[in-house]
Amino acid sequence: MINSLISFLNASPVNFLAVEALRNRLEPAGFRALDATAAMPALKAGDTVYFTKNDSSLYALRIGSKSLAEAGFHIVCAHCDSPTFRIKPAAEMHGEGGIVRLNTEVYGGPILSTWFDRPLSLAGRVIVRTDDPMHPATRLLHIQRPLLTIPNLAIHFNRQVNDGVKLSKQKDMLPVLAAQMDKSAPVLLPLIAAEIGCDTADILDFDLYLYDTTPATRVGLNAEFISSGRLDDLSMVHAGLEALLSADAAPGTTQILAIFDNEETGSQTKQGAGSPFLATLLQRIVTLQGGTFDDYARAVEHAFMISADNAHAWHPNYPEKMDPTNHPVMGGGPVIKFNAAQKYASDAVSAAVFASICEKAGVPCQRFVNHSDVAGGSTLGNILASSLPLRGVDMGNPIWAMHSCRETGSCADHEYCIRAFRAFYNL
Ligand code: ZN
Repeated sequence: MINSLISFLNASPVNFLAVEALRNRLEPAGFRALDATAAMPALKAGDTVYFTKNDSSLYALRIGSKSLAEAGFHIVCAHCDSPTFRIKPAAEMHGEGGIVRLNTEVYGGPILSTWFDRPLSLAGRVIVRTDDPMHPATRLLHIQRPLLTIPNLAIHFNRQVNDGVKLSKQKDMLPVLAAQMDKSAPVLLPLIAAEIGCDTADILDFDLYLYDTTPATRVGLNAEFISSGRLDDLSMVHAGLEALLSADAAPGTTQILAIFDNEETGSQTKQGAGSPFLATLLQRIVTLQGGTFDDYARAVEHAFMISADNAHAWHPNYPEKMDPTNHPVMGGGPVIKFNAAQKYASDAVSAAVFASICEKAGVPCQRFVNHSDVAGGSTLGNILASSLPLRGVDMGNPIWAMHSCRETGSCADHEYCIRAFRAFYNL
């Protein structure tokens, strides 16, 4: 399963490609793409379908034999975006010696220094002209060869660099693309046009991001860890996918995998967890099965959500940052996250449900609470609850270096997580 995770991570440098990688696993398994703009067919028990929104969020469903109103649904959600740098419009900056840099904007909250001196490249989507101004074409772009680098400043110019350095997102973090003496010759658009096979004049716009081309790999004496970019939160996306694909093909309860975009920037987009898109989909499904709005409301009341987003593992170099009694360890199993201010959806009831699911699956489980003097992050569960008031738990696997260009997780925890999710889907 770790090889499958590694393949998924390498195929998913950004949100759009992660959704494409999901489709490439779902379709051969019999999941049928449905278009939210088309009239929805009435779905029946055993049907497997999926929807996408904005090419960057995905909702896969396997319809159960029990009515939604009576049994609700079991949903695993995660997010497919990760901190990175977005290429700005008019991005080329020509400097001395023909050096061409790209102007970028930070996406989410990366640890900036971890992006220095790496073989970077570009991925995302390019929007191409068609005859219909309202419907331009979308082309995915994944340039797999190293193209760019953000060079560090030599220590000789900053002797204090190892004592901590303040970085400017606008000055220090711009990647170098080329050394080209002709300053009048554009670089970026011809590159994109050549990659997707179109005229530069037909490129209307793009959503392109930097990513580290270094592939995901196992590390450790016994290869017990995985080192990769974007473990947060693609490892949970992958665990949800593998669980759904291997779950009971004729379930009683409807199984849902919801992969949202834009968690790293607050989720308030049409493809984020703050969107009513999923709630609307569920209403349409219930109604087309002959149900009423009351049936839909009952389905939501019966449902249970696992909001899966990585947690912080006990860090051997920084034990003082951890809560004294709740510090999950690598390899100790999935982590239930609690927060008194309710940044996490977990409460005693939903935590007990998830712990029982883990027990049934033969999987250990751990609990995380922030050190009381350390502000924590937020995640999907509570944001989704604003449009879908679901009972649910916030959990995730423990990792080190969250939001680094390269994060570290545990191979054993990944297997545990898939088993727990599968057991949940099969309930
Ligand atoms: Zn996350």
